[in-house]
Amino acid sequence: MWTKVARQALTALEKLERAGYESYLVGGCVRDLLRGETPHDADLTTIALPEQTKAVFADRHVIETGIKHGTVTVVLDGVPLEITTFRTEGTYSDGRHPDEVQFSRTLREDLRRRDFTVNAMAMSPRTGVVDPYGGMQDLQNKVIRCVGDPRERFSEDALRILRAARFASTLDFEIEEETARAMLELTPLLAKVSAERVSAEFINLLCGAGAQRVLTEFRELVAFIVPEIRESFGFPQQNKHHCYDVYTHTVCAVSYIPPEPVLRLAAFFHDIGKPRAYHIGENGRGSFRGHSQVGEQIARDVMHRLKFSNAIIRDVCVLVREHDYLLQNEHGALRLLQRLPNDLLDPLMHLMRADALAKASPQESLQKVETLRDGLLELIRQSPALHVSDLAIDGKQLIALGVPEGKSVGTMLEYLLEQVIDGKAQNTTESLAQCVLKIVDKK
Ligand code: ATP
Ligand code: MG
Repeated sequence: MWTKVARQALTALEKLERAGYESYLVGGCVRDLLRGETPHDADLTTIALPEQTKAVFADRHVIETGIKHGTVTVVLDGVPLEITTFRTEGTYSDGRHPDEVQFSRTLREDLRRRDFTVNAMAMSPRTGVVDPYGGMQDLQNKVIRCVGDPRERFSEDALRILRAARFASTLDFEIEEETARAMLELTPLLAKVSAERVSAEFINLLCGAGAQRVLTEFRELVAFIVPEIRESFGFPQQNKHHCYDVYTHTVCAVSYIPPEPVLRLAAFFHDIGKPRAYHIGENGRGSFRGHSQVGEQIARDVMHRLKFSNAIIRDVCVLVREHDYLLQNEHGALRLLQRLPNDLLDPLMHLMRADALAKASPQESLQKVETLRDGLLELIRQSPALHVSDLAIDGKQLIALGVPEGKSVGTMLEYLLEQVIDGKAQNTTESLAQCVLKIVDKK
């Protein structure tokens, strides 16, 4: 487990100690090392003031990351190490940031300001593990517990509420009772947290091993972040294929899909449109027809509000929109493939499988998905072209053949694609050029 990150962190620590400054590894990297996991980054805490740390690493690349808060980043052999002076935090009048940061002379004070016991341990070769708040025991029992009074700690900084849920999911830990109660009681304080921080934590939460449990236990927290999901709570599916209400089915689907942001988000949003799309069909039976389009719109609104990246929004929306298209349109494979960007075919299959697994008879539903997938792959094998980009001719060549620059080029490419799909032209440069010339010459 003593990877490059940990080795460089130790090197930095020894350098500081040799200069006479008490220093420790702290926080996430200690937690991960004690769990036998590889830390992805390392934080150090030290009695040295930022200027003193800079002087110790005068021969190195030092970045003044947050010098006001006592943090500088030192890069050793390509590994960035955050080195922060022991600090305490004053009052928090905005519910998110301390009014002032005071440097401290003791490690214990520094550990007390940290969020959870498992994140409030330090270690150094000189002292071994320093654990004044019972972090080791909580680590062994797989428990997330605030350092100090949870209500106070969450009121100081509401982001901690979401961090608790995120760690419970990523570490697959339980949340201690008082901490959990305070999280739910103080959920509205999350209004003070920026959209970017909320979405980053939410994605991590969704991708954690304990996502299903945390999304279920803390669904009120989830509904504070995504109010639209509340309509799914307890909403009956009215359908023999489903044994769960919409939210329970959603959370199951999340747990069955690989833990990648786009996939987990797509699973989270895939049925969010069901409650609004519900209506009594012509046959007198309940129907969710159109829920994918409604869901796509809701997902887009939510993700815009939470400031997700455009790339994520685009991909998740396509997956939500298409997640049950094939199940509703058995003969729609070609149309689907034409609409679907190539790189979203695999993600769509993951979503359809996860959706199937979260239904009442998963084996039967899964079998259906596999059959549809085989059909799609066969179609791809047979089709000379599915997208304009698959054509053996491009825009530049069309212009050279006399197609006017601008919109006409796109229109012509679409026309050629149709000709190829309908078998009226071969997908070769010569055959397509002939088609083009026939039209250009006529004009
Ligand atoms: P990971 O990096 O694996 O997500 P981490 O524990 O390293 O987990 P960071 O956000 O990198 O989390 O923070 C480093 C440490 O700083 C934490 O372990 C914790 O001790 C402290 N910390 C971070 N954010 C807060 C906060 N909002 N309130 C109190 N302490 C915090
Ligand atoms: Mg970290």
